[in-house]
Amino acid sequence: MAVTMLSDGYLDVSFELLDGIKAAKAEALLEKRGVPPLPRMNINAYVVETADRTILIDSGAGGINGWGGRLQVALAAAGIDPLQIDTILLTHAHPDHIGGLAGPLQTPVFRNVQQLFVHERELAFWRDEGIYSNAPDGFRPFFDVARNAFNAYGEKLVPFHQEAILPGIQTVNLFGHTPGHTGYLLGDGSDSLLIWGDIVHFPHIQVAQPEVTIAFDSDSAQAAHTRKQLLDRVATDKLSISGMHFNFPTAGSVQREGNAYILNYDLWSPVV
Ligand SMILES: [Zn+2]
Repeated sequence: MAVTMLSDGYLDVSFELLDGIKAAKAEALLEKRGVPPLPRMNINAYVVETADRTILIDSGAGGINGWGGRLQVALAAAGIDPLQIDTILLTHAHPDHIGGLAGPLQTPVFRNVQQLFVHERELAFWRDEGIYSNAPDGFRPFFDVARNAFNAYGEKLVPFHQEAILPGIQTVNLFGHTPGHTGYLLGDGSDSLLIWGDIVHFPHIQVAQPEVTIAFDSDSAQAAHTRKQLLDRVATDKLSISGMHFNFPTAGSVQREGNAYILNYDLWSPVV
């Protein structure tokens, strides 16, 4: 299995979206880790090449609202033809993950995709008419983006609830950020990599302080609980991890530091 991490670009938000930490403390935590103290979230996507599939995990934001939109350029730079991609795995259906999947009018960007895997709870949430009509006006466009992408792939959608979906790939329930938020564990043993989706939006802040939540969480208490449990697991198992909002398109590991955790990125270079 070969995993290529791609940068879709970034989106700028505000530390005001974080609950449980003051902006000044958030800036200090980032500065301490040598990261610019800005409320800027990188957006990553992944291509996994196996013996018989070329898999895309999430698709970046597709330039929606000026967010990200670099995925196609990143694929070209990595020598990956979008038409090679036959399988898509989604961590969840927020616009910065699903925005690159489809153009207007339900037009699929990845035309040779045969299967698009999404947790059945995630699909049901975004397609629920009652939830949609009760959603705040500002949130309803998120539903429109998700529905446009889902409809673009039509019968290629594979709603799942089980752990084993493909050879060498296990799903990990990480509910809370969204109702069907899912991580993907690639490989096994010491060679495995867990792509943990949006367990953190500001990696150094939320690994150090897992109780800090973000306004995008659909259930912030559950999101914080899931984060704490997973940090414990990946620190104990010394699991290699990566995430859509890591500061670089890289992997890393989590270490216990007293009662808290610390995220250490693997050495990273833009030159492969
Ligand atoms: Zn996200």
